[in-house]
Amino acid sequence: MIIPKGSKLSPEQLIEVEAIAQDFDCSILEIQGHNRCVYAILGDEGREVMFKRIAGLSFIHKVDMIESPYKLMDRRSGLADHAVKVGEDEIGKTAPFIIGGPCTIDPDNPSLFLETAHALKEAGVNALRGGVWKPRTNPYSYQGDVKSLEIILQAREETKLPIDIEVMDVEQLKIAHDAKVDVLQIGTRNALNYSLLKEVGSITAGSQISVLLKRGRHMAPPNEFIAAAEYLVAAGNPNVLLCPRGTTPVLDGYRNHPDESVTPLLKNRTWAPVIIDPSHSVGHADFVKACSLASIAYGADGLCIESHIEPSKGIGDDPKQAITPQAMKELIDACRVVWPNRYQASF
Ligand code: PEP
Ligand code: MN
Repeated sequence: MIIPKGSKLSPEQLIEVEAIAQDFDCSILEIQGHNRCVYAILGDEGREVMFKRIAGLSFIHKVDMIESPYKLMDRRSGLADHAVKVGEDEIGKTAPFIIGGPCTIDPDNPSLFLETAHALKEAGVNALRGGVWKPRTNPYSYQGDVKSLEIILQAREETKLPIDIEVMDVEQLKIAHDAKVDVLQIGTRNALNYSLLKEVGSITAGSQISVLLKRGRHMAPPNEFIAAAEYLVAAGNPNVLLCPRGTTPVLDGYRNHPDESVTPLLKNRTWAPVIIDPSHSVGHADFVKACSLASIAYGADGLCIESHIEPSKGIGDDPKQAITPQAMKELIDACRVVWPNRYQASF
């Protein structure tokens, strides 16, 4: 990876770097962070002469030769100080970043979502979530409705909070991108859909849009998760949020196997913020607060929590796992108490 002395290469400098890369059948990809750009070398990059020629240019700070399966996501990479911002908030900076909202927006009852959004703003959430299109295990269950996008856009307009929705294919991705949705969620089922990850990374390259990548339900090694995120960054978008949400259930009683304890492992290997989803992990409203507190203690930067003003009137997962806005407020207050004592990687 190439790190320039200034915040980015001028067009002339980029042409000079590209010309060297081309001599070695490589090309250059610009990755735009909030504070500066870094440049990935695409192709067979293990060529020492190429590195030396690029590193010798007067406007280059350094060229990293990181030996890592995820060289952009690696905590030693030039992106290590990349700040992921959602709305005005820099994730992980001052307090847990909380995304809240129903599992699924009910397109026939917009007021339930809008009232929930206002109540959650009062409770102190930083961003709103709500399913427009839903990945359902049962093909006969409600699959979502594009009408719900209008509802969550209206909620953003009214509350001024950024919004997070899941996209499952390129068509949905383009619609959400055109609507300038702030956070695109890639769900557990698509966590290893590499062609979708590449599309998401390239369509959102250079934009402010962040991608909340859920951890696959069956994923075991943390490296597989980080490598999936690498696809997004390598395609051009470094605004990545890693979201463990429980893996295949082994404890009878939880919906999935709570995996917030993976946080310190991720923190030691990568620079990306970690946002835990306790709702799908434990799968029951009663356990969400405990899982949230544990997540913050393990060093998570934030939480993505299902919440509904009247969970029993919700659709999708809400009746069983959504917490009320009042419970959300209590949870946020409790998490802020744990925050100063959270695990922090020592680098
Ligand atoms: C959701 O967030 O509602 C959802 C379907 O998440 P996951 O992909 O983690 O199951
Ligand atoms: Mn859900």
